[in-house]
Amino acid sequence: MDYSEKYEKKIKGLNKWLARCEKGSKNRTKVKIKLQRAYQKLRNARKYLLHLISKEITEENDIIVTEKLKINKMVQSPLSKKIYDASWAELIRQLKYKSKWKNKLFYQIDTYYPSSQICPRCGYQNKALKDLKIREWECPNCLNLNDRDISASINIMFEGLKLYMKSGLGTASQ
Ligand SMILES: [Zn+2]
Repeated sequence: MDYSEKYEKKIKGLNKWLARCEKGSKNRTKVKIKLQRAYQKLRNARKYLLHLISKEITEENDIIVTEKLKINKMVQSPLSKKIYDASWAELIRQLKYKSKWKNKLFYQIDTYYPSSQICPRCGYQNKALKDLKIREWECPNCLNLNDRDISASINIMFEGLKLYMKSGLGTASQ
């Protein structure tokens, strides 16, 4: 069972309830306290889940590659998105130190690398692709149908492997 989802639903319900409460009323204070508790539980549930994920990733893989967080996007985002971004930052933090513990390699790709604009099949960069709502796009060069998230992951993986090769750790003489 996903506890995060459970508390998200609860928060949504409490927010609706809060909107109906009169300002300055006792009920409003009560709902606010309930909301704070629900947020705390949501944060804890997320953190627990993140530890499970980071544990699994650092156990199963020798090379881990992620993108650096795009800070300006975080600032513009609504609250639920902010929590999501905070989780992402926390996951990266955990991956970083757990990789170190387990002697795994951890790489981060620079934010300016256009991971979601590049066709992983032919390398063509689709600069027109900016709208995050577009989940799929056809490459104008090789006509490959790209899923935004999957092709971005493939591109990030290859960028990470390039860093790995540059580091010299991948050569046979090591
Ligand atoms: Zn292509």
